[in-house]
Amino acid sequence: MPTQVPKLISKTKIMQGYQCLKNIYLSVHQKSLIPPVTPELQALFDQGNAVTVEARKRFPQGVLVENAAFDFVGSLQKTRELLAQHTPVIFEAAFEYKGCYARADVIEYNPLTQRWSVIEVKSATRVKDEHLDDVGLQVWIMANAGLPIEKISVMHLNNLCKFPDLSNLFIQEDVTDKLRSLHTSISPKLNNIFQALRSEQVPAVEVGKHCSEPRDCQFMDHCWGSQTWAKPNLFDLPGMYTKRWELFEKGFVDLQTIPEESLSEKEKQCLQVLKTGQRHVDKNYIKEEMAKWKFPLVFLDFETLNPAIPVFEGTGPFTQVPFQFSVHVLENLDATPVHFEFLADAAVDGCEDPRKKLVPALVEACKGEGSVVAYYAKFESGCLQDLEIFAPEYASELAQIRSRLVDPLPIIKEAIYDAKFGSSYSLKSVGPALLGDVFSYDRMAVGDGGAAQRAYDEYRRPGTSEPRKNELKTALLEYCKKDTFVVVELVKWLYQFVK
Ligand code: SF4
Repeated sequence: MPTQVPKLISKTKIMQGYQCLKNIYLSVHQKSLIPPVTPELQALFDQGNAVTVEARKRFPQGVLVENAAFDFVGSLQKTRELLAQHTPVIFEAAFEYKGCYARADVIEYNPLTQRWSVIEVKSATRVKDEHLDDVGLQVWIMANAGLPIEKISVMHLNNLCKFPDLSNLFIQEDVTDKLRSLHTSISPKLNNIFQALRSEQVPAVEVGKHCSEPRDCQFMDHCWGSQTWAKPNLFDLPGMYTKRWELFEKGFVDLQTIPEESLSEKEKQCLQVLKTGQRHVDKNYIKEEMAKWKFPLVFLDFETLNPAIPVFEGTGPFTQVPFQFSVHVLENLDATPVHFEFLADAAVDGCEDPRKKLVPALVEACKGEGSVVAYYAKFESGCLQDLEIFAPEYASELAQIRSRLVDPLPIIKEAIYDAKFGSSYSLKSVGPALLGDVFSYDRMAVGDGGAAQRAYDEYRRPGTSEPRKNELKTALLEYCKKDTFVVVELVKWLYQFVK
């Protein structure tokens, strides 16, 4: 007896089926396996919704098809009425064809041709391949449902737009021609998906590269967690992005089976460390590189916001805007580091530019001639460069700080590998591996850059209560301070080889 398929399957779910038949099967038939929405994912949804709402403002005549309580039938009925009235612009118009259900961000009626333009809004600064698949499916459903379509566009963010002038925030890119070639491939894909959904068996799909392309599948823990591979294995080797999947597809997951001739010298070294557990350290390289650094060392870390819709002077979509820094100054290896910190106050309206007070405080904290140490300094360098434009009166001081930047990350990547790094050289992996678990970020109220962004977003929101603000402030200060403190200890550890 085949399994019952719901009357309507949304486009979002079908896109999961494009990624993997097991994914859509589990999300339709084994809902209990769907993990709760993480704060990171929720923040992405919120951002996407905010961009869609902002895009609607470009169509003042638009009429919204409400979707209260996921009333699919009501939405389809309301759409039919608006279409029949030739409503000039409709938001969230709903369509159904053979059980596939889709809603269009914007459709616009052309009375001259009596056809419709379809506009899909994307919270990105360019059209990606995954957008084309998504819009292609959407339009296929709409066209088969009987909508005469003349043009299809993706409306995405424009990285040349600068706040406060948001008149050019969006670019509409015509993708009508690009979608033509996809059209014939959709029907067979849908046949496969519905066939899989009607089956009594979970599709026998093995894990692979497709689990994180185009995005991380929600069943990663379920499918990857049930693998019985020995640890460490192929997936604990750092780098090797393409090569890793080539080896995986040939069945080389166990470290003992990986053919060394397929690896670079560096990769062989890491493989050896994982097999033996013996840490690799190139002392001469560390000594040579660190000898170039100059005391007093100034350890710098920024936390930033990067809103899709810019809200700060001179910034564009996703521009990194620092709202916090931590600086530790180390006079010499025996001295106790001196700490400076800054967290922009939550302004009354929640919109005061955090950079106004941050820049002078930063210049003061980083004054001097010593090397400025930042883990993955490329990020701090980019932030400083942007701040030079934002605050021209401090441009020379900020440029001087930038010119002093040094970075322990490339030194560690080149000279050290420890089995506990696994596949990552991030500070969160390297710190505890070399210095001990006391330097772990586990159990911190704010434990990574994304969490810091969300915490600051809440901190500066006008409705946040005072006790909650104090809680968030403490967590943010602790986190940023920890980031520079771990680097202080890491650099002290590296200096043991500079003797
Ligand atoms: S984790 Fe991979 S194999 Fe499992 S459902 Fe997702 S995409 Fe499919």
